[in-house]
Amino acid sequence: MKLVYTHENRLLVNNAQNMLESRRINTLLKNEYAAGAMGDIAPIDSWMELWVLDEKDYQQAIALLSVLLDRLTTDTAKEDWLCSQCDEHNDAAFDFCWKCKANSTVAE
Ligand SMILES: [Zn+2]
Repeated sequence: MKLVYTHENRLLVNNAQNMLESRRINTLLKNEYAAGAMGDIAPIDSWMELWVLDEKDYQQAIALLSVLLDRLTTDTAKEDWLCSQCDEHNDAAFDFCWKCKANSTVAE
């Protein structure tokens, strides 16, 4: 098992997991429930961690995540958005709702 991603923004980690799982990479979250007890600003040791179960998936996972991170750094002007289908809060970096996979540009 290998750690591939961790971030203070749990939405990003959830999105990262969603992306890897959608490509049939088996993952595991650690510290999934840690921050709830810590308040809004959590120390780094409670950041949610995304691990791949099978180390042969590690390189592919890193490659996928690098694409994700590229978009995070280039899309900083965009704002977070609420899914029109399920009202889930989504980070600006993502075009699709992490929960129901609706497109962010779908009207109403
Ligand atoms: Zn949604």
